Amino acid sequence: SKPSAPAGLSMDRQVKFSSLCDMFEKSLDKTHNERLQLITKLWKSIKGHDYYPFMRLLLPQLDKERMAYGLKESKIALYLIEILCIKASSEDALRLKKWKDPSLSKKTDGNCFSDTVYSVLNKRGWSNKSSKKCLSVFDVNDALDALCSATEVEAKKKHIVSLLTNMTSLEFKWLVRIILKDMRYGMQHTSILKEFHPNAVDVWNACTDLKQVTKNCLDPKFKFTASIQIFQAFKPMLASLANPDKLSDMLCTNDLVVEPKYDGERITIHKSDNTIKYFTRNSKDYTELYGHKFNRTIMKCVKIKDCILDGEMLVYSKDLGGFKEFGHNRTFALSDENNTQENFCYMVFDVLHANGSDVLAETLSKRRRLLDKILTTQEHELEIVPQMSVTTQSDIYKALDDAILNREEGIIIKNTSSAYQPGERKNNWIKLKPDHVDGMGETLDMVIVGGYFGTKFNRKSVSHFLLAVRGHGQDDYYTCCKVGSGYTSSELIQLQSALEPHWIKFNKSDVPKFFCGWVPQSGEIPDVYIEPIHSKVLEVKAFSITETTKFKTGYTLRFPRVKRIRDDKNFDHCNTFSELSELVNNPTRR
Ligand code: ATP
Repeated sequence: SKPSAPAGLSMDRQVKFSSLCDMFEKSLDKTHNERLQLITKLWKSIKGHDYYPFMRLLLPQLDKERMAYGLKESKIALYLIEILCIKASSEDALRLKKWKDPSLSKKTDGNCFSDTVYSVLNKRGWSNKSSKKCLSVFDVNDALDALCSATEVEAKKKHIVSLLTNMTSLEFKWLVRIILKDMRYGMQHTSILKEFHPNAVDVWNACTDLKQVTKNCLDPKFKFTASIQIFQAFKPMLASLANPDKLSDMLCTNDLVVEPKYDGERITIHKSDNTIKYFTRNSKDYTELYGHKFNRTIMKCVKIKDCILDGEMLVYSKDLGGFKEFGHNRTFALSDENNTQENFCYMVFDVLHANGSDVLAETLSKRRRLLDKILTTQEHELEIVPQMSVTTQSDIYKALDDAILNREEGIIIKNTSSAYQPGERKNNWIKLKPDHVDGMGETLDMVIVGGYFGTKFNRKSVSHFLLAVRGHGQDDYYTCCKVGSGYTSSELIQLQSALEPHWIKFNKSDVPKFFCGWVPQSGEIPDVYIEPIHSKVLEVKAFSITETTKFKTGYTLRFPRVKRIRDDKNFDHCNTFSELSELVNNPTRR
């Protein structure tokens, strides 16, 4: 867009919000590369200026300064009905209130609340630009700040009225998407950040702070070195899937150690003096959940003033003489103080910061030696994860045997000379689970993309799911199998209610784009489908992977069973097609 206001004004005051909306709108029917070109063009047009105000509107889901507006679809619908004086019993009021109901939606609604808003506004002449004020990016950010900090209903409504008065239907549609933090323009945050600066994703992983990302990357002297700050959440390092080639390559070139893979919750603990914070793998602050019962242990066991630890938080049960199953952490955290049979146990496997220095770049062996120095361990309460060095494949399988015997999930193989890289999932950490080696089955994390109706529990509801892995493109999902067992009835009910609002009737002659041209045969045609962004990831165990023509991947799972619902994973954190192919081509055998 060409700046319209006099020079000297900051760029966010010069660029019109409508030109951002035009770009969003344009990107909808573009290919991934064309969308990236649009983004590059935008970044070029504001070069040398503050990108942050633009970033906040492009990536509202990453904006920490405006966390929650307290406005979901249903509330916005009620406000609009009132503000626009829409008769409560009218078709439009129903369309807004029951925007999920396909029988009420019009073709133009596109199965999305903001599209329904757009069409309702258009009917009332809102598409006419001439009567509108032409808000700048600055104006919109300013109004959103006010909307976010308004606590009273009337104040919120006032801000909406003012935005509505000054915006066209198209602008308001995108404003609704920004408020709902669900942009649906077919680009992931990683693509947008990468287009901004080659290291923007790394910086985001290290601080999960959009303001910091734009500030660092705009500094011409900025050179990326992974670094993290106390009390600033970051994306922890992850492990990639094992296969025999990877293992033998690693064994040839590196000194390796094996650690048990515990099945608790990944938590990084930040401590400075008496202040302690707990962050999850997704950068959520869980201090309230864990601090109450665990701060005492940290104060007792950490010998230095400030540090950041990485590890797995589990519940130790004296009755069991071992750890409780995954998912028990929350129950225990909320249980009363009289529960003396259980306690939290933090299994520490890394240290990333100690007494004012960042130690990310140190080798794993050095970081481990540091752990020994700074912690006083306490059995079943705070322990350093045991390590065993391995030099051959059979050492590794022996370690896996031992881990299974101890009822652990598997093992993590680590390169002792590697640095800690936030957010990385490369070959310095490799995970190996029994399912990957014993030929009795693989486990894969797949996203639900479709549903089949059954009559379980005497009602017609989705009882079987169509699952997919991520394809080559950002938004591509390749179907792979159908699954209908493994979950308990209460898990199924929980899944059904979480997915219910998002099911859309599947039409064979208009298969959604993300299926990438998959043509289902008669037995596989789902009754309904779901956009991956609204979906859930299931961890599926199977006997083997076989070839098929029925699914887009060209493979399917034999005897697939759901092991668990991965509520801790985003839809796009499911396995990819390349990972599936790797498993097929390199089934690890003893
Ligand atoms: P999975 O699906 O196999 O549980 P994941 O997708 O949750 O794995 P990965 O990166 O594949 O995550 O595996 C690393 C995870 O394993 C970490 O996030 C952590 O929660 C857990 N873990 C358990 N023990 C260890 C350990 N000793 N070292 C590193 N991670 C460990």
